[in-house]
Amino acid sequence: MDYRSDTFTRPTKGMLDAMQRADTGDDVFGEDPTVNKLEAMMSALFGMEAALYCPSGTMSNQIAIKVHTLPGDEVICSTLAHVYIYEGGGIAFNAGAQVRALEGDRGMINATDVEAAINPDDVHKARTSLVCLENTSNRGGGCCYDWEEIEKIRAVCNRHHLKLHLDGARLFNALLSTGQTPAQYGATFDSISVCLNKGLGCPIGSVLMGSAAFIREARRVRKKFGGGMRQAGYMAATGIYALEHHVSRLAEDHQHAKKIAAALLEKEFIGHMLPVETNILIFEVKNPWSPVTFRDYLAKEGIRVMAISPTQVRMVLHLDISPDMVARTIEAIRAMA
Ligand SMILES: *Cc1c(COP(=O)(O)O)cnc(C)c1O
Repeated sequence: MDYRSDTFTRPTKGMLDAMQRADTGDDVFGEDPTVNKLEAMMSALFGMEAALYCPSGTMSNQIAIKVHTLPGDEVICSTLAHVYIYEGGGIAFNAGAQVRALEGDRGMINATDVEAAINPDDVHKARTSLVCLENTSNRGGGCCYDWEEIEKIRAVCNRHHLKLHLDGARLFNALLSTGQTPAQYGATFDSISVCLNKGLGCPIGSVLMGSAAFIREARRVRKKFGGGMRQAGYMAATGIYALEHHVSRLAEDHQHAKKIAAALLEKEFIGHMLPVETNILIFEVKNPWSPVTFRDYLAKEGIRVMAISPTQVRMVLHLDISPDMVARTIEAIRAMA
């Protein structure tokens, strides 16, 4: 039972069958019908002009940042943003841009702080050109933005001629939790990256969306990054399968997360837990346990969790965690003293 991340899923039988049946071609020549179909499905769903299949969410975010900025520009995001703290310094390496990180709340930033962080038109200052949001926020415990705040940030970007990118690695989790539609997001952001390899259960892959002109440029950058893949249709078939079969079931992961949270919170040794809005639990573990001893104890029970800081543990729900496994996990937690 692997709760370390929602990346620890294995393809289902149906997904493997879909891979085997996939019709493929050379996607670098734009001739893979399955990749083309996945890209068309995603851009239609979000009402955006075009889409680009990428090997990873890191690559799709980094391509977007590279296309939206020039070297020396400044990118505004949260101090907890994946693009900033978990992509290997990629913003500096790939785009030659620098980051203005805002404190925010659980990885979410607000329009007032964004507007205050925009540099004036002054030769001493880096040119602010891009704002990156993350929804759900990974390091924020899977929390979701208020739609009104996103609209306010969009208005700030319009006033100051900034681009707005969404790291929507877990965007489908946010949509299920808050009730917005993909089209609302498509109409609001200049670019959106959605991971297929998280709760949707694909082995790899991410889709980047935006205007036709943006995706044309993104395709060029993907090639430069070494992300132009040949018969990628075998992989894209997993994405199509996941869109058809694994989206609405994410709600089950959210229910499982709430059940496990309730069992944990009955324990005196569990401290502050970030509000559980989707499929991620982040909580403090206190005396007599520590995150490491808590993790090691559960590992012996066949339950893997991640100690993510000296005080916190993370657990993530996904499609390889069944209702029965959740029940067994709750039993194991109840048995702890
Ligand atoms: C996992 C993740 C990514 C990157 O995905 P990879 O496919 O693992 O590179 C980007 N952003 C967030 C918020 C993530 O959780």
